[in-house]
Amino acid sequence: MSGVITQNVDMLHLKAGSRRIVDLHGTYGVVTCLGCGHRRSRWALHDDLDALNPGFAERVASRGAIEVAPDADAVLADTADFRMVDCPECGGVLKPDIVYFGENVPAARVAAAHELVDASDVVVVIGSSLTVRSGYRFVRRAVSTGKQVAVINRGRTRAHDEADLAIDGDCVDVLRLTDAAL
Ligand SMILES: [Zn+2]
Repeated sequence: MSGVITQNVDMLHLKAGSRRIVDLHGTYGVVTCLGCGHRRSRWALHDDLDALNPGFAERVASRGAIEVAPDADAVLADTADFRMVDCPECGGVLKPDIVYFGENVPAARVAAAHELVDASDVVVVIGSSLTVRSGYRFVRRAVSTGKQVAVINRGRTRAHDEADLAIDGDCVDVLRLTDAAL
């Protein structure tokens, strides 16, 4: 196992112990400035937000549940009294350093993923339909450079016709059958 290229933004690969990871769509662990591109830790921002909004988390919790969306966004019913922190460098607006629908994956990240594919013998697609081109292009890269491709996914994927091996099944169930140290 030489590395992981993931479209997830939840940092679970890191938490699970994988070390060489290309977070294609970024992670919620970093925020970036829309003005100057300055990046900083989400946890450092959290401390600043906490200091600026004493008791906010408790007040929101007491008003009702906080709904957390799959993209790690939180849906709050009432944020009227919330004070936002701006970029410490230029005062610009901060956003999670995540590639949202319609945005492009930064070129350096694509290059890092290509490097990982190029250094591998086999690319295994796990639990993705590859509908989004940002992930599918690495299958194309592998095929065009003579690598083998295996797919583990429930249902058909965009890479099925190119794959040397395609297993239709739940990736958790299938991976439990292997000794692969993922
Ligand atoms: Zn800035």
